[in-house]
Amino acid sequence: MMTLAKGLGALLLMLLCAPAQAALRVVSTIPDLAAIASEVGGPLVQVQSLVKPTQDPHFVDPKPSFVLDLNRADLLLVVGMELEAGWLAPLVNSARNPAIQLGGSGYLDCSKLIVPREVEQPDRAKGDIHPGGNPHYWFDPRNGLLLADGIAARLAQLDPTNAPTYRARCADFKARLRTRMEAWRQTLAPLRGRSVVVYHRSFVYLLDYLGLVEVGALEPKPGIPPGPSHVAQLVQQAKVRKVDLVLQEAFYPQELSRLFAQQSGARLVVLPTMVGAQGTKDYLDLLDRLVELLK
Ligand SMILES: [Zn+2]
Repeated sequence: MMTLAKGLGALLLMLLCAPAQAALRVVSTIPDLAAIASEVGGPLVQVQSLVKPTQDPHFVDPKPSFVLDLNRADLLLVVGMELEAGWLAPLVNSARNPAIQLGGSGYLDCSKLIVPREVEQPDRAKGDIHPGGNPHYWFDPRNGLLLADGIAARLAQLDPTNAPTYRARCADFKARLRTRMEAWRQTLAPLRGRSVVVYHRSFVYLLDYLGLVEVGALEPKPGIPPGPSHVAQLVQQAKVRKVDLVLQEAFYPQELSRLFAQQSGARLVVLPTMVGAQGTKDYLDLLDRLVELLK
């Protein structure tokens, strides 16, 4: 009896100490891709984002811990279109993880999943930080659907045993997103055709989805800070075109945007553009907040 109890005890101990089915480690550059990976991966993935939701994703201070995170990653999700050109490549090289190198089984350039915009306007010589086209595609919900499909497909390739779960979770996420899209469409219908000015050209995809018209940007080129003469010109244009809103992210300076708003009669709206900013919890919550603020 004693031996049996001891044997059972040892078995129980073995079971408790045995490693659980290891979740796939997903590292993304921005929180939004991480949020979509969480939706489709659920408990099968362990997800983290290198960029914080309140940071400018063009300019990120590389931390030594990023190299360790990348070294252990099974899958790296990047925005691509050169958004991360200023900081990511040396980190990926230092990580010495063949899977997540360009072309590796664990490297997914998410810009390949969507239809990119403004790819024909590279002007790096003049400091344009969108030389690969406009990389701010993640908060157009139509792209959210495509990103979910692409990320689920790659998770299924990396972990074929659980492929049906990734597919089912992706279908569920897309159904919830489509339901919200219908509600957003109705809520924002009155905004269609209205004119806006932006600080940085982050809203090209979102504005297209909403049917809003971008009259101009306070940055004369993406990444080039606005100067007084450019702002003065834009005020004139904004008055003629009856601009209602100035849109910008919280991480850009607001003095000139406020001045522009005062002079043009438009209203400044600071939008969260990555999941986690302004307390947003997930991808649907981020878009809910965007819609609420625009309404
Ligand atoms: Zn940008």
